Amino acid sequence: MTMRYISTRDASSKPSKKTFTEILLGGLAPDGGLYLPESYPRLSPDELNRWRSLSYADLAFELLSKFIDDIPAEDLRALTRKTYTSAVYCNGRDPDRAAEITPVRWLEPGLGLLELSNGPTLAFKDMAMQLLGHLFEYALAKRGETLNILGATSGDTGPAAEYAMRGKRGIRVFMLSPYGRMSAFQRAQMYSLQDNNIFNIAVRGMFDDAQDIVKAVSNDCAFKSRHRIGAVNSINWARVAAQVIYYVKAYLAATRSSDEQIAFAVPSGNFGNICAGHVARMMGLPIGQLILATNENDVLDEFFRTGIYRPRGTSETFTTSSPSMDISKASNFERFVFDLAGRDPAVICRLWAEINRGGSFDLSGTPYFARLPRFAFASGRSLHADRLSTIRHVYEKYGLMIDTHTADGFKVALERRTPEMPVLTLETALPAKFEETVVEAIGKLPERPRAMRGIERLPQRVEVLDADVQAVKCFIERHAVD
Ligand SMILES: *Cc1c(COP(=O)(O)O)cnc(C)c1O
Repeated sequence: MTMRYISTRDASSKPSKKTFTEILLGGLAPDGGLYLPESYPRLSPDELNRWRSLSYADLAFELLSKFIDDIPAEDLRALTRKTYTSAVYCNGRDPDRAAEITPVRWLEPGLGLLELSNGPTLAFKDMAMQLLGHLFEYALAKRGETLNILGATSGDTGPAAEYAMRGKRGIRVFMLSPYGRMSAFQRAQMYSLQDNNIFNIAVRGMFDDAQDIVKAVSNDCAFKSRHRIGAVNSINWARVAAQVIYYVKAYLAATRSSDEQIAFAVPSGNFGNICAGHVARMMGLPIGQLILATNENDVLDEFFRTGIYRPRGTSETFTTSSPSMDISKASNFERFVFDLAGRDPAVICRLWAEINRGGSFDLSGTPYFARLPRFAFASGRSLHADRLSTIRHVYEKYGLMIDTHTADGFKVALERRTPEMPVLTLETALPAKFEETVVEAIGKLPERPRAMRGIERLPQRVEVLDADVQAVKCFIERHAVD
């Protein structure tokens, strides 16, 4: 069976079809859409049962083989075995369970956490980014090409990208961060890396200024192609595919037979993580419910309740204590709406033309919205006070510290779960990453994994620049890989 990818916005009579490695290094499709498989590969109950005894790496190989048909099997297997090792995912609370990569922790029967934050930067983004690092290095070497990755971070994506790309041949990373606006721990995570293919640029400005510079550089087509500028943002299909793996792994860990259903609660921002859950369900994984949790920035909760998708302006976007969910629009959401709208690219073009004009759309009263229940979503939101009380509740009742994002997920999981169906909340970061709010909630500092203790005292490498496109371009010009 061949696997080809199409764009959500390609409404031409003969849509262009691409292979996995063709879309791997690109970001958006040329028409501005997002890539998706032409049709979702299927998972059968028999196949799921056969996979029950596989290691994470071998399960990853089996699953990715359904999405990738242009990397030889032995190479893909080597890549997954190199990526998912207990030495990389050893930062969890129980180092003896590191071999499980994403262990399930039951708090009580039917209520658990899926640990996704045991990787090098203590956030779930490592799960996909680590694979991306190996896939990029492999694909570039095959083609004899190089890549300069440019990105902007407010805290979690930057470290995950840098730890995934450090030391990789043919790749340099230029990561912009807002000068003086990240925690000492987040700064240390990135700036203490001494690898000479990693360049940290602290921009005198806010995250949005950094993001605008990335957009300006990427829109300069001549500069972009001269320096082979690439991205690792969450719309990259390979990141979504890599995230499908842990939904399957968790399902197999939580069930004994492949006719049982379970639910997942997902702290959401750009809709990347929960999009992978949606894809897993479309493939046939028996997911009975996908519970989407937002914080004060509730664009997505609003859509699932009302059918109205109304991205916010920057002035309407709040800075919260679960900052990785502080988004104004959810870039991966287009993939879900494509499926909801019967995979009609003309509909997506029309809806997103409105969004790109700064508008919104309303699907209530359309047949699409009437179909929404079939997709098994539920949603809710969680505010600062909810985070504090949830962190306290989980600590007092189960003796476990959770981070602010996971707390948002857990709060909404308790609210929206259906009785009788086990629910796993995705642990998207370890509490050590967001100490301040954990201390506010329970008056205690979370434990830090050994590898991270005292990193604030390590020497740091960072270039401080004005929030100026030209200054950043000059810096890239001087340091880009040829
Ligand atoms: C990125 C991130 C999220 C949001 O994930 P999306 O895939 O953007 O929905 C949630 N929690 C943490 C800790 C994150 O780093």
